[in-house]
Amino acid sequence: TFRALLLTKDGDAVSANVTDVSSQDLPAGEVTVKVDASDLNYKDGLAILGKLGIRTYPMVPGIDFAGTVLDSSDSRYQAGDAVTLTGWGVGERHWGGYAELARVKADWLVKTPERFSAAEAMAVGTAGLTAMLCVMALEDAGLKPEDGEVLVTGAAGGVGSVAVSLLAARGYRVTAATGRAETEGEYLRGLGASELLDRHELSALKKPLEKERWAAAVDVAGGATLAGVLASTKYGGHVAACGLADSASLTTSVLPFILRNVTLHGVDSVQCPAPQRQRAWDRLAAELPEKLLKDGVQMAKLEDLPRLATEILAGQVRGRTVIKLS
Ligand code: NAP
Repeated sequence: TFRALLLTKDGDAVSANVTDVSSQDLPAGEVTVKVDASDLNYKDGLAILGKLGIRTYPMVPGIDFAGTVLDSSDSRYQAGDAVTLTGWGVGERHWGGYAELARVKADWLVKTPERFSAAEAMAVGTAGLTAMLCVMALEDAGLKPEDGEVLVTGAAGGVGSVAVSLLAARGYRVTAATGRAETEGEYLRGLGASELLDRHELSALKKPLEKERWAAAVDVAGGATLAGVLASTKYGGHVAACGLADSASLTTSVLPFILRNVTLHGVDSVQCPAPQRQRAWDRLAAELPEKLLKDGVQMAKLEDLPRLATEILAGQVRGRTVIKLS
C-alpha cells in the first residue's frame, strides 16, 4: 500500500482524505514512479473542493509530481531516473501526484533537469512552466527588454511570481499587478518588480482604448482585468493570456487589435507539445533565479491540502507551495 490524498464522491459531495491505497489500484501506464514531491496549483484547489468537474472517482488529485522511476517498460526511462510530470490531465482524469506512488504514460514525463531536486522541480511545477511558456510566447513574437514595461497580473500568486522573477532576471522592467501590495509588496520587489500596481486599477479601466502603458503583459486573471490590460497595451504590444483567476469571460472591443496592432497570445501548459515543453524546462533550468526557489516557496504535507485548497481559491497563497512526500 501507499499513502495518497483520495477524493471520493457521495451524491454531490466530494471529500478528500489521506488514506492507504493498494498499489494494485494504480492506473495503467508504462512508468511507475516513487513520488518525492508534488505542488499546489489553482486547479488542484478546484479538484480538492469538488469544483473541477472530475468525471471518475475515486481520484488521486495533484496535477504535478517529481520523483524517481521504480519500474519502466519504456526504453526512454530506467529505474533510478529522476522524472517530472506536469499536466496531461493527470490529477484530473488519471491518478495524480498527491500520493507516494504514481503510474503514468512515458510520453507525459520529462527528465528532471539536473539543476533541480524533486522539491525544486515542484517549486517550478505547472505554474513555473506556464510562466516560462508565457515569456517564450512574448519573446518569440519579438519582445525585447528595451521595448518598455512588462505587466504581470496575479503577481503574488504561483504563475505570477515566477513570471515576475524570470522577466526581471532577463532585464525587463516589470510592473507587478496585485491585490496584496501591502502584505506582498516587499516580496514582489525582492523578486525584481520595479513597480507595483493595485489590480483594481486594471479591472476599473472601462474605455476600449486607454493610455498606452505596457509593451507586453502576462495575464493570469482574464475577465475585466484582461480587458483593462488589452486597452492599456502599447501600439504593437503582446499579451500572453494563461488564466482565469478573475473570470473566464472576456468582454472587450476589437480596437486594441485593429487600431494598436496588439496581439493576444493564448498559452496552455497541459497539452503543450513535448519539444516546446523541453525547451521551456531547459530555459527554466538555465534562467530561474535561485531567489525564487528560496523565498517564493512554502513546504507542506498531504494533510495540509484541504486547508491549502480553500486558501488558494481565495487568493491567499503566496508564490509556490511544495508538497513533500518523502
Ligand atoms: P494562484 O497561485 O492562486 O495565483 C492567482 C493570483 O491571481 C492570486 O494570487 C491573485 O494575485 C490573483 N487574483 C486572484 N483573484 C483575482 C481577481 N479577482 N482579479 C485579479 N487577480 C486575481 O494560482 P496559479 O496556480 O498561479 O494560477 C493562476 C491562474 O492561471 C489560474 O486561473 C489558473 O487556472 C491558470 N493557469 C493556467 C495554466 C495554463 O496552462 N493555461 C497553467 C497554470 C495556471 P494577487 O494577490 O497578487 O492579486
